[in-house]
Amino acid sequence: MPSYRNVALAMFLTLHGALGFGLRTSSLASSASLRRTMSKATTTAIYSTAEATESEKKTPIKNEEAYNKVKMEDIVSLCKRRGIIFPSSEIYNGFAGFFDYGPLGSELKKNVKDNFWRHFVQRREDVVGIDSSIIHNPTTWQSSGHLDGFSDPMVDCKETKLRYRADQLFCAPVTVEECGTTVGFVCVLEANDEDMVKAAKKQAKKLLKESDRKGQAIQPFAFKDLTQVSEEEMGQIPSPGSGKPTLTMPRDFNLMFQTNVGAMQDGSSVAYLRPETAQGIFINYKNVIGTSRQKLPFGIAQIGKAFRNEITPRNFIFRSREFEQMEIEYFIPPGDDVWQPFHEKWIADSKAFLETVGLREDLMGYDVHEGDGLAHYARACTDITFKFPFGEQELMGIAARGNFDLTSHTEGSGKTLDYFDEETKEKFIPHVIEPSLGVDRLILALICSAYAEDEVNGEKRNYLSFHPSIAPVKVSVLPLVKNKEPLVKAARELFEKLQMRWNVQWDQTGAIGRRYRRADEIGVPFCVTVDFETIEDDGAVTIRDRDTTEQVRIPMDEVVPYLSKMIDGY
Ligand code: ATP
Repeated sequence: MPSYRNVALAMFLTLHGALGFGLRTSSLASSASLRRTMSKATTTAIYSTAEATESEKKTPIKNEEAYNKVKMEDIVSLCKRRGIIFPSSEIYNGFAGFFDYGPLGSELKKNVKDNFWRHFVQRREDVVGIDSSIIHNPTTWQSSGHLDGFSDPMVDCKETKLRYRADQLFCAPVTVEECGTTVGFVCVLEANDEDMVKAAKKQAKKLLKESDRKGQAIQPFAFKDLTQVSEEEMGQIPSPGSGKPTLTMPRDFNLMFQTNVGAMQDGSSVAYLRPETAQGIFINYKNVIGTSRQKLPFGIAQIGKAFRNEITPRNFIFRSREFEQMEIEYFIPPGDDVWQPFHEKWIADSKAFLETVGLREDLMGYDVHEGDGLAHYARACTDITFKFPFGEQELMGIAARGNFDLTSHTEGSGKTLDYFDEETKEKFIPHVIEPSLGVDRLILALICSAYAEDEVNGEKRNYLSFHPSIAPVKVSVLPLVKNKEPLVKAARELFEKLQMRWNVQWDQTGAIGRRYRRADEIGVPFCVTVDFETIEDDGAVTIRDRDTTEQVRIPMDEVVPYLSKMIDGY
C-alpha cells in the first residue's frame, strides 16, 4: 500500500475514533498507485478515469448570485428534465393546476413527509398522528364554515371567459407626471415588484401612445388589487385577457370540489373533497383523546391530500388544485395568557424544522397577520414566508385559532368535544395552535434552496445541493471500471447493502468525472467509488462529497455507519 494511502486511512481512523463520524477529510486517489496495480493494456483508460477522480478543483460561486438569476421557467424545466415533476396528463396537453411527481420527485416527496413525521410526531411524546378519510360527512364543512365561507373573490372576463382571482390582479392609474392627467389604467397579475412594474410599464407605454403623449414621464404606479376598486374604476380597467374593460365586479367563488356519493346524483348525495386536512383532525379529537392517553397540551398531526378549485392555479406547484398538506392541531388549555408562549414555540419549532431539511435561512421571512388579515376567531397568525423566484410568499402558517373549531363541531354534531382536566377537575373546550404546511410548496422552496452553481476544474457546474435527509438518491455507487469482475462484484455487494437502507443508484458508465457530474445534477450527496485497491489492497472505498467535492477513503465495513451519520444524523 503506498504511503499516502496509509496516512489518509490512519488519519481517518484516528479522527473517526476521536471525533465521531462528522469529519470531512480529503484523501485523493493517487494515479501512481493505480498505475502500479494495472496491466499495461488497461493502464491508459483507467488512468484517465482516475485523473478525473483526482483533479476536482472547486471554485465556489455564491449560491445567492445563482439564485437571483433564476426564473420560474428554469425551475419548471429542470424539474421536468430530471424527472422530478411533470405536468399532469401531459399526453392530453396537461390539466391546469395538477402535477405528477416523477421517479425523483416521488422520492423527494416521500423524504419530505417522512422528515416532517419523524420531527413532529415520532420524536415528540406529545404529538400523535392520524390518517383520516378525504371525504367526510358533508356536515363537517357546514360546521367548519367552509360551505359558507371558503371562497376567493373572482372576476370574470366577459369576452374571453377567463376567470381571475380579484386579489391577485392589480390595477393602477397611468398619470402623466407633468399635467396630472390620467390616461387610463393598467392591470397586471400579481408577481414580484420588478415584474409587475415591467408589465405595467409596457401597458402604460401603449396608453401614452394612444393619447398622443408618447414618451412623457408618468407618476409611479399606485397598485391596488381588484377587490378594492369601485364600479366606475372597473369600467376603465383592462382585462388581462381582452385588453379591454370587460371584467365583472368581484364575486365569491367557493373553492371546494363537489362530488356525489352513492348511486343518486341529487342534492342529498353531494359531498366534498377536503380542502384541508385539519378538519379530519378535529372530528377525530374525541377518538384520539379516548385512545391515546394524551393529556393537554398535546397535538394530532396528519399528512394528506387536499383539493381546492383554485381560480388561478399558477406558479407551478406553489398553487395547485390538488396538493398535500402537513398539519398539526396542538390542543392547549384556554386562557388569554396561555396561547402566546405555545404559539411562539411552534413558530420557532417550525422554522427549525425547515432548516433541518435544508431550507435556506436567508430566503425565509415572517409575515405577521394583523387586523383584517386575521380571521375573526383567530388570536394570532404568523406565516413563514419564502423568497420564491416570483416573489416572497407564504410557505406555511402558524395560527392560534382559539377554540373556534371544536366549538363549531360541538354545535354542529351535538357531541361534546370538551376536555376534563384530572388535576383541576375542570371541563373545557381546548384551544388550539395550528401549524400548517404544504408539502408541494415546501418541495418547491427546497428545490429553489438547492439550486446551486460553482466551478469544478474550471467548468461551470449546476447542481442541486439537497440536504442528504431529503435527497431523492442518497448515494451513487461507482465501480471504477465495468469489466473487472471482482471489482464490479465488490461494488455490487456494497450497492445491495446500501439499498437495504436508502434509495441508491448504480452508475458504471463513462469517466468518473462525468458520473460525478450526473450525480451532482440530481443532487446525490455522496458518490462511493470502488477501485482496484479496494479489492487488491486496502479493502477501502473513496467517498466523495457533492458540495465540497472532497474525498475520504473509508474501509468498506465503515461505509454504512459513515453514511448513516451523514444522511440520517446518527
Ligand atoms: P394562500 O393564501 O397561499 O392561498 P392559504 O392561506 O389559503 O394559502 P392555508 O389554508 O393556510 O393556505 O393552507 C396551509 C398551507 O397549505 C399553505 O401555507 C400552503 O403551504 C399550502 N397550500 C394552500 N393552498 C395551496 C395550494 N393551492 N397549492 C399548494 N399548496 C397550498
